[in-house]
Amino acid sequence: MQPIRSKEEFLVFGSPLIEEEEIQEVVHSLKTCWLGTGPKVARFEEDFKQYKNIPYAIAVNSCTAALHLSLIAADIGPGDEVITTPLTFCATVNAIIHAGATPVLVDVEEDTFNINPELIEKKITPRTKAILPVHFAGRPCEMDPILEIAQKYGLKIIEDCAHAIEAKYKDKPCGTFGDFGCFSFYVTKNIITGEGGMVITPHQELAKRIKILALHGMSADAWRRFSDEGYKHYLVIEAGFKYNMMDLQAAIGIHQLKRVEKYWEKRKEVWEKYLEAFQNLPLTLPAPFPSYLKPSYHLFTILVDEQKTHISRDAFLEQMTFHNIGVGVHYLSLPEHPYYQKTFGWRPEDYPVAAKIGRQTLSLPLSAKLTARDIEDVILAVKTILEQAKCQ
Ligand SMILES: *Cc1c(COP(=O)(O)O)cnc(C)c1O
Repeated sequence: MQPIRSKEEFLVFGSPLIEEEEIQEVVHSLKTCWLGTGPKVARFEEDFKQYKNIPYAIAVNSCTAALHLSLIAADIGPGDEVITTPLTFCATVNAIIHAGATPVLVDVEEDTFNINPELIEKKITPRTKAILPVHFAGRPCEMDPILEIAQKYGLKIIEDCAHAIEAKYKDKPCGTFGDFGCFSFYVTKNIITGEGGMVITPHQELAKRIKILALHGMSADAWRRFSDEGYKHYLVIEAGFKYNMMDLQAAIGIHQLKRVEKYWEKRKEVWEKYLEAFQNLPLTLPAPFPSYLKPSYHLFTILVDEQKTHISRDAFLEQMTFHNIGVGVHYLSLPEHPYYQKTFGWRPEDYPVAAKIGRQTLSLPLSAKLTARDIEDVILAVKTILEQAKCQ
């Protein structure tokens, strides 16, 4: 059997669309020799604040850093517990661990793959300090019940919006529900800076503290210490981190952000083509969105249930790769990983919904860069693999 695409045409999963404006902007940064944190970072923060209609935004070098700093600014540390989902990237819980706190998992919903609000209260203890919802694949979590619980128990809300830059819940942008919203501009995300992240917050003092913590804990003026305003002594007021974003990264982000809704439209089209093409196949497709949600279409996930498809998820992954189409797994549930088993005694069977999804899920390419032919190839590959499995 011939692969659907040749090796030379391998479709890289999550490959970003990079256009001429950001290329020129990066070249401009290189030519002016201003690579580090400077005016382009400031502009990216301003643009992001406007986009989210929020008073404070701090650009950092990853969403992981954004989460870590948010937790610290929320005064979460040793002895505290933070409730989150088992179906997320490891960075979500690693940030909690690095803040010194203990992550506590609450299983997800079967259809939305998001944290199940009905199970949260059972996991709340006197040590619980925050809920950290992840808007999985860009589908907003059910924020009303989550906010209600947070209010009832006096908990902070820190949103992991790595998948959810464009997403809205009842017309309110994701990232603006609680104390902090954390975004990622990693290469596979909806808009990119290579590595990069952003924290948004309505709190002035906490925003100031995050800015300081992101650059070694040096007093705010340090951000301007390399400018032409004359030498400024910096004073260290906290043991901070090296989490600042570079102008070289912001140079990309400024132009990507201008196209965020255009790229969203493009992925929405791909999403709808997939839905239509796969509707009669023995796969579980993403659940429909209620009208009060604006999803960000970050991951198109299918569930491969071997009972129905006669092929395992892992064999499916291999077949897609054979056809030279890159795919992803988002995610094996966190309790599958040895470190968390050892450290927290987590077991997959204690989070059965997340475990099942993690063992059956597969993400298809969903990038603004996909051509009509790329989309056709993905569809043909999925259909061909299922057809073959049926005959075996
Ligand atoms: C990508 C991702 C992160 C981490 O983002 P980085 O910018 O790579 O640090 C965190 N949470 C989720 C859900 C992600 O998908």
